[in-house]
Parts: sequence; C-alpha cells; structure tokens
Amino acid sequence: MSFIEGKTVAIVGGGIGGLSFALSLTKMCQENNIGGVTIQIFERDGKAEDKDFQNYSLSIRSDSGGVQTLRKLGVLDDIIKHTVYATEGFYCASYSANGFEIMVQSPPMNPENAGFRPLRYGLWSGMLKKVESNENVSFHWSSPFEDVTHDDETDKYRIALTDGRNYEADIVVVADGSHSPVRNVVLPLEKPRFTRLVFLIGTTDRDPPKNLQHRHGLIIGKDGVAIFLSHEDEGRSIWGVSRLCDQPHAVHRVRTSTEDQKKEILKEALDLIKDWPKEMRDLIAAANLDSIRVANGYDKMPHRAKGRIVFIGDACHPVTPYSANGANMALVDGWSLAEQLTSPKNNSIDEAIKAFEDEMIPRATKIVITGQRTISFAHLTGWKGVARNGFLKTVGSMLRHPKVTLAVVVGAVALGAYYLFGS
Ligand SMILES: Cc1cc2nc3c(=O)[nH]c(=O)nc-3n(C[C@H](O)[C@H](O)[C@H](O)COP(=O)(O)OP(=O)(O)OC[C@H]3O[C@@H](n4cnc5c(N)ncnc54)[C@H](O)[C@@H]3O)c2cc1C
Repeated sequence: MSFIEGKTVAIVGGGIGGLSFALSLTKMCQENNIGGVTIQIFERDGKAEDKDFQNYSLSIRSDSGGVQTLRKLGVLDDIIKHTVYATEGFYCASYSANGFEIMVQSPPMNPENAGFRPLRYGLWSGMLKKVESNENVSFHWSSPFEDVTHDDETDKYRIALTDGRNYEADIVVVADGSHSPVRNVVLPLEKPRFTRLVFLIGTTDRDPPKNLQHRHGLIIGKDGVAIFLSHEDEGRSIWGVSRLCDQPHAVHRVRTSTEDQKKEILKEALDLIKDWPKEMRDLIAAANLDSIRVANGYDKMPHRAKGRIVFIGDACHPVTPYSANGANMALVDGWSLAEQLTSPKNNSIDEAIKAFEDEMIPRATKIVITGQRTISFAHLTGWKGVARNGFLKTVGSMLRHPKVTLAVVVGAVALGAYYLFGS
C-alpha cells in the first residue's frame, strides 16, 4: 500500500502550479491504483474573476519542460487552441529614427521543438476543465488562506481561511504565487528580492508596427529602457515598458487601481520612450486604459519545505516575467512533486518531499540566475548597450547566413594554420 493512500492533500492556490499538481496527482493515483486520496484546493479568487486579468499570452517552452508536462497531463492539444498570433518566434530588435530592425530572431514557435504562446486564461482554464472533472478534487473558490498550524496529537495540519472556516490535511502544497501568504506565515525570512525591474504593462487594440507583427520580442536601445511586445490577436498587442529602478513602483493592481493612477502610469511609459519611433509611441498612447498596470520584478532562490508544508512554483522560486519561465517551472514542479508522492521508490511523504526538492532546487536555481542575467543584459546603458546590440547583430547575421559564416570561420582557421605552421 502506498504511503499516500487515504490521505488528504490541501493545495493553497488554484493557479498554474496548483492545477498542474492536482491534475498530475489524480492521474498518477489512477495509473498506480492508489485509492482514497482527497484533494482540496483553496483559491483566493472567485472562479470567474480571473478571465480579464489573464488575458495575455505567455511562452510555454520545451527547453524547460512546460510543453512536455502539458502533453503528459493530456491537455496540450486543448491548450494549443489558445495560441496567439505571435507564432514567428522570439526576436531582439533595435530602433532608430527610421523604425525597427530585428537583430536576432529565433525559429518559429512550434510545440514539437520550441514552444508556443497560449493565452494565460486558455492555459489555466484548459487545466481547470480537466481537474474539475475529477470527483476526488474539491474546489473552494473565494477562499483566502489565513493561517496553518500543526496538531501534534493527530499529526495533521489545520488550515484556517479568512472567513473563519477550518480544514484538516496530511500534506499542504503551497502554490499561492510570488508573494505567497503561506510562506509569509510559515517561513517569514524567505522573502523575494526586488530585482530592480519595473514593468509598465498595457494592451492596445492595434497590430504592432509592420516588421514586428506575428512575433513577440524585446526592443532595446542604449538608454536602459526596453519594450516587450507581443502580437496577441488580429488588431491586439500587449506591451511592457521596462527599466531598472532602485525602489519598487507603488504597485497599482489592475483590479484595484483608479483611472487617474492608470493615466499616470501610461504617461510615465510615454515619457520613457519619448525618443522612440512615432509608431511605438502611438501604439502605447492608444492603450486600453483598463489594461494598464505595473509589475515590479521580484525573484528568490528556492527553499525547502517546513515539515509537510511544501512549496511549488512562484511560492518557492518566483522569477520576473523577463525569464519567461515561471509558468513552465510551476507546471514541471506540479508534475514532479506528484511523481515523487506516488513513486514506490519513496517510503514516506517526507522522503517524497525531499526527493522532489533535490530535483527541483538545482533546476529552479539555474533559471533564477539566468533571469537575473537577462534583466541586466536588456537594460545596459551607454557604450555597453551599443556593444550588446553590435554583438546581437553579429549573432543574428551569422544565424541568417550560416554558409557564409562557415566559410569565414574555415578561411580564418586555414589562414591561422598557414601563418603558424606554413613554411
Ligand atoms: C506579464 C507576465 C508575463 C509572463 N510571461 C511568462 C512567460 O512567457 N512564460 C512563463 O513561463 N511565465 C511567465 N510569467 C510568469 C507566470 O505567470 C508565473 O510564474 C506563474 O503564473 C506561476 O504560477 P504559480 O501557480 O506558482 O502562481 P500563480 O499563477 O500566481 O497562482 C497563484 C494562485 O494563488 C492564489 N492565491 C494568492 N493568495 C492566496 C491566498 N491567500 N489564499 C488562496 N489562494 C491564494 C492566486 O489567486 C493564484 O490563483 C509571466 C508573468 C507575468 C506577470
């Protein structure tokens, strides 16, 4: 009999990581004939609330395992249907008075080798549909977590919600996002670090400038300001103007900020790009005011569980949108924790949690470090910014003309050999 048989698993947070874990655990219990596992999901928000907030795309990648996890969960085909217009691959572009020049362009998006960009809502609802069809899973919407305590007599955890309800569980899986209220209660010293990245984000009902259509990418100059731009749909673009700041921006969440605050953020974005091509300024100036918000970039190295309170996704190792990997990591964490909890190689929940963390910590650490480097690279100023763009242009041209590059490299090696060894 498996050690997880008959146990109650509480999941705090019904976002991408929480749903990936719930789906993975139900699937693996079924496949391994493990019965009686009850899953309770506690989600702060109401079920319907999320739709508008999640109306932007994100990269699901095969290099970090997101695509493979969705395939194993049996939801990939359904989620691919929510792919947005940005199918041409990621680019890095520069700008001048004449417009935009693509310096490097990655191959077209394709779930088989690179990845794809679904709407976040499509990803979330695709998993939700499948989780909801499982009778061992109960959802508690509009149920914000408040506290968790351990009862030494029963060896169970008691989860208290803000409205006074209480639930018992044998294991608590924390998937409540980057500012994790559970982490704040249980491990208050594990705080995310402000990466200095401030992102002013919005959506405009227009296509991107001509040569940036059907793609997503970064436009970077030498003044430390970058724009992320993605073609979401016919006549719809999402953009984020970013820069490095010493202090986080006074955050205005999209759901709670006032119209005046949103106007101010839009003005701030336009001020930052006042020397950029008119096409870009016009695109941002025409933003849908409701969509305007600020994202401060936080990240954190992964940490271990406290007892049987185990952390996955952003609750464990938040990264900024610049790493384009947080959702992928949350998906993979969900799968990998469920795999260890149902594996006959482990003899207890504690062993399974340790095996999960031994695998997750190096994986997540690498992605947090890469994300930090990407932020610095994208916001270089002065001559460093000029050198970066020169480097990217060279790489881009080598990728576009591989035969010429090969001929130049062979020629240079032959010439070097002649000078060194020729008589
Ligand atoms: C603009 C933007 C672009 C991004 N682009 C990409 C990308 O291209 N690729 C990529 O891989 N990632 C991307 N990400 C990151 C990605 O969205 C996150 O890393 C991912 O959502 C993390 O999943 P999670 O389940 O850990 O947390 P979340 O998806 O944040 O889910 C946390 C859940 O916990 C709930 N919750 C919070 N507090 C409580 C509480 N007190 N009680 C109960 N529930 C609670 C929340 O309501 C939420 O549903 C992007 C993020 C942003 C903001």
